Formats: sequence, C-alpha cells, structure tokens
Amino acid sequence: MAVPLLDLSRQYRSIKDKLDQAVLRVFEHNQFILGPEVTELEKQLAVFCDCKYAIGVASGTDALLLALRAASVGPGDEVITSDFSFFASAGVISRLGAVPVFVDIEDDTYNIDPNAVEKVITSRTKAIMPVHLFGQSADMDPIMQIARKHNLVVVEDAAQAIGARYRNRQAGSIGHYGCFSFFPTKNLGGAGDGGLVTLNDDDRADFVRILRFHGAKPKYYHRVIGYNSRLDTLQAAVLLVKLDYLPRWTEGRRKNAASYDRAFKGTAIKTPVAKEYAYHIYNQYTIAVENREELMRVMKEKKVGHEIYYPVPFHMQDCFKELGYKPEEFPRTSRAAASVVSLPIFPELTPEEQEEVIAVVKSISG
Ligand SMILES: *Cc1c(COP(=O)(O)O)cnc(C)c1O
Repeated sequence: MAVPLLDLSRQYRSIKDKLDQAVLRVFEHNQFILGPEVTELEKQLAVFCDCKYAIGVASGTDALLLALRAASVGPGDEVITSDFSFFASAGVISRLGAVPVFVDIEDDTYNIDPNAVEKVITSRTKAIMPVHLFGQSADMDPIMQIARKHNLVVVEDAAQAIGARYRNRQAGSIGHYGCFSFFPTKNLGGAGDGGLVTLNDDDRADFVRILRFHGAKPKYYHRVIGYNSRLDTLQAAVLLVKLDYLPRWTEGRRKNAASYDRAFKGTAIKTPVAKEYAYHIYNQYTIAVENREELMRVMKEKKVGHEIYYPVPFHMQDCFKELGYKPEEFPRTSRAAASVVSLPIFPELTPEEQEEVIAVVKSISG
C-alpha cells in the first residue's frame, strides 16, 4: 500500500465548503492587501499564541528577517543559532550582513544545546535564535537566562511549532520575538507563502509593522528602508478557517506519534524524545536509524513517504564555507544528519496506512 508523507487534499476535502466560501468572500470585498481577514487573524493568533501582538508577514523567512532587523541586527553583529535547521534560520542572518554563529544540538531533541551557547558569545553577539525543531520547543529557560546575563535579544524560530508549549508557555511567546511560517506543509498551512511575528513590546511591534510596509508611517513617509512583506488577505482567509481545526489536528498528530512510539519500543529505532517541559506538536515524526540508506531504499520501493530533515548541517553548506567551521566541532549534528528520517504523521493518516509504515520500517531497522 502506498502511503504519502503528507496529503493536503484530505484536509481540503474535510473543510472544502468553509474554505471555498472564505476565499470567495475576499473576491467580493476586494481588499487584497491587509484586508479585514488579516486583522481578524492577527487578533485570533495573538490570543492563540498568548502574545500581545501578532503581525502577519509574507513568509516564515520574512518573519525571521523582520524580527532580526527590528532587533537592529546588522553588519558586524553575530547571531547564535542551531547548526541543524531549515536553511532560512541561518540565511536571514547573513542577508542582514551579520554573521551566523552555529552551535551543536542536543542528541535527544535535535534542538540547540543551551550549554554550547554561552561558550560562543563574544562582544559582537547581538541575538540568539533557538529553533523549535520538528514541533518541540528548545530548552528556553537556560537560553533566556544567558540572554539576560549578556543583554541579548532572543528570536524564536517557531516555524515548525505553532501551538507547541514549553513549561505551559506557548512557543514564540518566551523570547522577544516569535516567528511562525504558514508554508502549506506546516501544521497551520496556507495556500501559498505566509508568516507571522509575535511579540509583547509596543515599540517593537510598531517597528515590525512599519518594516513590512516599506518602512513607512504614515504612508509615503519612510522612516527606514523597509520591505514589501505583508500576509495576503486571501491567505489570512484560508488560515482563519483552518485555525479553528488546529487543536484537533495537533491531537491527531500526537495520537499518531504515540502509536509509532508504542510500535517501535524495544527496537533499534531511535524515536523522538518528548521532554518533560514540552508539549510536542509533531510537525515531523523523526526517527534515527543506523541503516538509513537501506531503509530508504525499501521505503521508496514500497512507496512509503519519507524525507530527510536535514541532510546537510549549516556548517557543511557551501554558502557558509568561508565561516571556516570544521566537522569535528559538531559531532551531534553530523550524527543526526546521517541517521534521521521523518515518517508520515499528518492527522488524516489512517490506521491501516500507519500499520504499513510501521511494518516496513521494522522489517529493515527493527
Ligand atoms: C519553514 C521554516 C522556515 C521558513 O518558513 P517559510 O514560510 O518557508 O519562509 C524557517 N525556519 C524553519 C525551522 C522552518 O521549518
């Protein structure tokens, strides 16, 4: 039986009428840029994320870029982040002329190792960007402690973690800025690109709003050189419909994760470790195995969806070569990159499909 890694058409079919109507309403009122749906979504997401402000932007990447820019990160500054993440986490730092400083991850969560952070702080360090990888929050208390001690800004890359919690606090509400992505494959995904910045500070929020509209306030009076980075009204209309379903979709993912956990218990398969401080939302269910190439060959043959997030750590990327890192500085990201593979975990996955995934994985790596 073929099993897809993700099947968004099942989600669409389950909410088709509401989605279609929401999109058509936008064509009736024609306020395609910063229309009423954007305002309503920002209001609801501020509540959902437990933050004073939620500001829609054009993508998760732009959310990170605007947050760093609002934190006045620029040429000469250093920003500390995880060596193991989607490219955007590091790319935005370089795009602002700053230097990304990579640190190794924890073996069990694949998140940034807080113990490694303080060691790389210099007089040029401006910010720390923890990434809540795969839907589990990084260990935020020690990170915030280090940030306070050294007077650093914390920008949370929560692109994979909407609704995740750390010690009962929402991911993205703990640092100075929280950054989310509505890329279609994220837990709350739009029909295209979209992103969000969450924060609690009035002045910082004002600045992010100015930055997304060419740096202007009022219109045509440009305080700074900003960006064109708004969340489209059409995307907001789609996301408003989906937001109502997010808690039950998250529960579906957690239920699927628990089934995998049970099935792989006592085997050689390394399953995700959900920490006691975390409410994990499983944007990915990522296992690690010794014989990954063989497993992937069979999964491909049996048409069982899978993907490697991520095959190349930042310190190994061609575009960061000039930073001069050596592989031996990152033993844990190197190990993770060589052994992880993510399995289908989407809420609409059927029990039969999940049985098939489990059977195939166990037959090779169990
Ligand atoms: C998806 C993702 C981003 C970027 O979001 P886009 O909306 O695709 O720009 C950034 N960081 C992480 C960890 C992500 O998973």
